[in-house]
Amino acid sequence: MHCPFCGAVDTKVIDSRLVGDGSQVRRRRQCLVCHERFTTFEVAELVMPRVVKSDEIREPFDEEKLRRGMLKALEKRPVSSDDVEAAISHIKSQLRATGEREIPSKEIGNFVMEQLKKLDKVAYIRFASVYRSFEDIRDFGEEIAKLQD
Ligand SMILES: [Zn+2]
Repeated sequence: MHCPFCGAVDTKVIDSRLVGDGSQVRRRRQCLVCHERFTTFEVAELVMPRVVKSDEIREPFDEEKLRRGMLKALEKRPVSSDDVEAAISHIKSQLRATGEREIPSKEIGNFVMEQLKKLDKVAYIRFASVYRSFEDIRDFGEEIAKLQD
């Protein structure tokens, strides 16, 4: 890449190491012309699939929206922010792992329910009751019955 100081075309890498959990590479570079040093970070670009809503409208995946939905279900529940963030990052990995360009919002809802079920049963019920449609109401009753056992 070009030198950010003088714009020279040639820079050389003088050090390269993995950072964080190994998902980033940090490189120290030096300009061959002005000898200034600078740092670059390299991360893999992982594209999230687009979301297909029930009315067939497509929209970009919105992590904030996902977080809001989960936090609403988890309101006043004894679940730490770290656990919520871990669940969100797990859902994102699952979405990427599908390898699909588009994913139905219903499927994302299922991933969320799976995570909430592990985090907190009350949050799971709250989320499921808002999210699931009436045709599933019988299954939903069965879920509650299972949890009460
Ligand atoms: Zn330079």
